[in-house]
Amino acid sequence: MEHHALDSRQRRVYHRARELAINNERQYHVAAILRRKGRVVRIGENTSKTHPRFKRQYKDGTWGSHMHAEMNVLRFSQPGDTLEVMRFTKKGMAMAKPCVHCMQHIVQSGITKVSYTDENGQWKHMHIKRSTK
Ligand SMILES: [Zn+2]
Repeated sequence: MEHHALDSRQRRVYHRARELAINNERQYHVAAILRRKGRVVRIGENTSKTHPRFKRQYKDGTWGSHMHAEMNVLRFSQPGDTLEVMRFTKKGMAMAKPCVHCMQHIVQSGITKVSYTDENGQWKHMHIKRSTK
């Protein structure tokens, strides 16, 4: 994952995230980790479960309401929380940059920082400006 050593607690968090994502019975295996002051609040995977808050229309006109991993944990977020998004494949990692729908919810939630894995399993970081609304 990262080049520097992870402590055992972090290792367990990422292991749990991978387990959830790989076993989600979806085509894509994504996990999101919501943290508050560094502590894990919630780990969620993308799921076929739906939630009315996250109903959205795609460019082709079809509607989706199954939850992406980010949506799955944003339900429990508070302003100032941080989010890590990881996408796993059977062999390794894949790009986990949040989609436009998730980004809207991330901004609205007051999340201040998003990290996501790229196809090499390296972290990319985004700092979110707080909404003034
Ligand atoms: Zn998304």
